[in-house]
Amino acid sequence: MIAKTMRTAIWQGDRVAIVEDIPAQVCTACNEQYYDGPVSDALRRLAEEGFPTRLAKSEILVPVFSLQGRIRVPKTIPEDVYVD
Ligand SMILES: [Zn+2]
Repeated sequence: MIAKTMRTAIWQGDRVAIVEDIPAQVCTACNEQYYDGPVSDALRRLAEEGFPTRLAKSEILVPVFSLQGRIRVPKTIPEDVYVD
């Protein structure tokens, strides 16, 4: 486990908020993040307040992408193409 400062994105319905400067312990084997009690409490309070914009330190414009029409399905070769 190593101490790291993390950043995370938290969804609330259609809204997403980014939280930075989160002190965490990170497992070097699996990258799992662990927050201690006071850190979890601070995150929970912010979430309960609904991430009010007036408390945000900055705002960013986030591009939203869709995979609709971008998924390439491989063409299946008809069985009668195969010859022994
Ligand atoms: Zn681990």
